[in-house]
Amino acid sequence: MQNIMAQLETRLGSLARSLASFRPERGVSISLVLGLDASVVPTAKDLSSHVRSIVDGARRHVDELADVLAHEEEVAARDDLERAQTFLDQDLDRSGAAGFALYVSGLEGAWHEVPLATPVRDAAHVGRTFVLAPLLESLERDRELILVAVGRERGTVWRTRSGRTELLEDRTEEIGRRHDQGGWSQARFQRSVDEDALDHFRDVADILAHTIQPGSGAHLLVACVEEQRSLFEQLLAPHVRESLLGWTTVEAHAGEDALEPEAQRLLAARLESERAGLVERWREARAGGDRATASWAEALEAAANGAVEAALVDGRSPDAWVCPACDRGGLAQGSCALDGTQLVAAPGGALEIVIRGTIANGGQVRRVATLPETEGIAALLRFPVSPV
Ligand SMILES: [Zn+2]
Repeated sequence: MQNIMAQLETRLGSLARSLASFRPERGVSISLVLGLDASVVPTAKDLSSHVRSIVDGARRHVDELADVLAHEEEVAARDDLERAQTFLDQDLDRSGAAGFALYVSGLEGAWHEVPLATPVRDAAHVGRTFVLAPLLESLERDRELILVAVGRERGTVWRTRSGRTELLEDRTEEIGRRHDQGGWSQARFQRSVDEDALDHFRDVADILAHTIQPGSGAHLLVACVEEQRSLFEQLLAPHVRESLLGWTTVEAHAGEDALEPEAQRLLAARLESERAGLVERWREARAGGDRATASWAEALEAAANGAVEAALVDGRSPDAWVCPACDRGGLAQGSCALDGTQLVAAPGGALEIVIRGTIANGGQVRRVATLPETEGIAALLRFPVSPV
């Protein structure tokens, strides 16, 4: 369990946890979500019009809240939106991102820019809490990928994360050249070249042992001709071998572009199998006891108690109401069962409440295509709960 948690803690993961727990003392939380798919927003002009429509949507939400906000809170919200529009219009670096989320709460000094790895639909939310569903797929994909092209004369290592790739090491050398001169016998020459090649493979394996931290959850893709794979695999440190996503073959001087599509394909397959594994565990737990639920009421209770280990969701959600005092959510209007406070409508419904409660308590939320046996929620629980 400890180990799984450590693996899932990533930069986006820790940001999501703080966004999930964020409650402003004064003012509102603004969530702006912008799709950057090149087929939808190909030009700066298109982007600008999408930004305007999102921010205008948020302004209408602020209008609706004018009665419940203090004057300075309303002014601050409008200033936040002004700033957000300028930023998204003029300063946004959209390279490599399929979407973008901006989380702002000016009176609390909160401003978080989140490039997203997967496409999202434009959205604007203004409320007490941030809206996190648009982050789920990017959160899942936020793994470090290490790419290596290795051969007798090649050792190039890249790191790719959130659609951006950087070169870490290049140990490409022409081993044979070093022995070109001198009157060596062919056998002696060959032996020396083989020893150098082995040293070189060791060297690259060593780099990987240091680059990949044990328990980091990083994945490794190795491009290497088939005859050399078993030798290279033997040289890998155990934790590096465990991180191995797969092997591929590329042209002798191919760059990272040649490896990335295969790495993304293998990562997608890995994530798919992780989700299938969670669905399977959920089915077994449900058949065998009370540590799994398909009930929104139970999931809300579990989320409020930090009892959700993993929640599978498919995007469907019933309406829900939430207690402004204790954050407990429920499926009916009225007052809080614990403190009697009048409940308010929850933006994003029960789904957002479960996402926040799960992520804030170190659980994971996975978006799946469909959950046919359910009403959109399948949760694995750390301990049984019963709705109040
Ligand atoms: Zn309450």
